[in-house]
Amino acid sequence: MNTDIYRFKLGDFQCIAVSDGTHTYSPPTFPPPAIFLFANAPRERLEETLREHNLYPRQWAEWVSPYICLAVNTGEHQVLVDTGADGLGPDTGKLLQHLQAGGISPEDIDTVIITHGHPDHIGGNTDSEGRPTFPDARYVMWKDEWDFWTSGQAEAKLDEHVREVLLKFARKNLPPIQGQLELVDLETEIVSGIRALAAPGHTPGHMALAISSRGEQLLCISDVVLHPIHLEQPEWYAAVDFAPEQVVATRRRILTMAVAEEALVLAFHLPFPGLGHVSQKDDTWQWKPISTTG
Ligand SMILES: [Zn+2]
Repeated sequence: MNTDIYRFKLGDFQCIAVSDGTHTYSPPTFPPPAIFLFANAPRERLEETLREHNLYPRQWAEWVSPYICLAVNTGEHQVLVDTGADGLGPDTGKLLQHLQAGGISPEDIDTVIITHGHPDHIGGNTDSEGRPTFPDARYVMWKDEWDFWTSGQAEAKLDEHVREVLLKFARKNLPPIQGQLELVDLETEIVSGIRALAAPGHTPGHMALAISSRGEQLLCISDVVLHPIHLEQPEWYAAVDFAPEQVVATRRRILTMAVAEEALVLAFHLPFPGLGHVSQKDDTWQWKPISTTG
């Protein structure tokens, strides 16, 4: 399977899941990934769950995370959701090359939606000279998110061990887009067929998107979950989740919505192309990746 781009249709919308590359998180530069991803999980239950998924001990030692952006051509607008992790590691920063492979050049994009201000979602906002990568686009972000990263809150509130790397990316990739920026703080339509959803917790103004065309629904959930096990264990949050209680409430809301609407779901860090459906089992959920072989 091509793991660079994956084309699919949603009603009349032409969509492409676009990989920006991957990064391998492993000790000693990084805590054991299972402990990072499931920070509050009881140790025994965690090992047992990983074994059930054939992820033990591998997931303990390394986590190869994809970074999956989304291009949507609505007919009226060419939209890009998130700009990837350029600068984060040797195998990231492939967004433009992969967009090109999908027939899209930076000038074609008129709307860039940033789900949140983490390095792996804003890394491609600017080019090597610090100019906006998408010269003709308006960049759209949730207001609380922009304020968090640009008005001193991040400096004051982030844990010391992640603060410097997060701020380095925010300082490089946020101020230069200010002239093209539009902030939203309501669950409003950004372009016709693409609606902002408040999904706070992972970061203060984390945003999901409800995309619909001709009755077909796509929920772009970004980092509401980072791993398929987060659907089954919705109370297990990641070390990088800013407000754990809010993360759990947001997960429950968004996953309930995904089931009720039988929506296709795109999750930024799940195995490429990050697309699947969600089924409910009692008070928890399960990830059903789409088949990409047909
Ligand atoms: Zn992320």
